[in-house]
Amino acid sequence: MRGRIAAGALGALLVLSSLLVAPAAAASPIVARASFPEIDASDRGTDVVLLQLLLRSHAGRYRIVRGLEPTGTIDTPTRLALLLFQRTHGLRPDARMDARTWSALAPEIGRGDSGPAVEALQLAIHRKLGWDVPLDGSFGSATERVVRRFQKEVGLRPTGRVSTTTWRVLAWHYERPSFALPGLCDYSTINGREANWATSSVVAWLERAATIFHERTGMTIAVGDLSRRFGGPLPGHRAHDRGIEADLRPIRTDGRQCTVRGTFAGSSVYHRNATRRMIRALESASEERLTWVVFNDPALVAEGLTTPDASHADHLHLVWCDLSARDILYRCAR
Ligand SMILES: [Zn+2]
Repeated sequence: MRGRIAAGALGALLVLSSLLVAPAAAASPIVARASFPEIDASDRGTDVVLLQLLLRSHAGRYRIVRGLEPTGTIDTPTRLALLLFQRTHGLRPDARMDARTWSALAPEIGRGDSGPAVEALQLAIHRKLGWDVPLDGSFGSATERVVRRFQKEVGLRPTGRVSTTTWRVLAWHYERPSFALPGLCDYSTINGREANWATSSVVAWLERAATIFHERTGMTIAVGDLSRRFGGPLPGHRAHDRGIEADLRPIRTDGRQCTVRGTFAGSSVYHRNATRRMIRALESASEERLTWVVFNDPALVAEGLTTPDASHADHLHLVWCDLSARDILYRCAR
């Protein structure tokens, strides 16, 4: 009895304290969830290009490193420039991007500004949202308009200026692979094209794997569900909620994995050797960030290439690790 009373009192206290600390204007769920993506040497793609352009926007002042180009990979000039930036800003010099380094690196910009930081903004809008915006590095009325539109969509006050919060939501925003690439195609399940979104690095690793695989075999990687635009629960899946998972179809002997469904491991149209090569291409493109490939082909399981699961006999489920994951299932091993 005493225990129950105490629990009741504690409950009331918790309700009261949560009312007291409730912020005056609650952030939208998207803004509340968005965090700057952590980046290390294994990352690539749009977020790395953002980092490179933002480093260049400081280069004049800090005479950073010659040869720093928006390559999309953490190459030596990028690593040196990042280390130097961290040193000169009282940040831990580890050449990794975390929230503190992002916040120090991303300047507040608005109408009339120009230079690499504006280029970074325009590129992020162009690649992640797929919206029309001039890629000229100058913040004019067209850029201001799309910034307002983005701020409205995610639940920020549409000021048209890019503050740390707007940078954060934009850097966190997922991206879609380019299905126009020769080695990549899209197939849809119940979620249609809504589930074509993933982190910039996952998109870059997938695209790179598709290019490698296509060069070697002439075949195409068929991509099904990734995640929704802002993540969260995805109908028909237990996972696929955080932009780091993908479903792929096994390769068929007739090469028609983009259009034909229901190809099971072990069936006569299943192309084991090409599927194995696809997995190897994905592994080599993903810089050791590909954690799991779940697929129920006993031969590939025996080779240590895939993890068995009864519900994954006609598609592969891929999981990449996330540097900032709290959940041990998604954490990177190093
Ligand atoms: Zn899956």
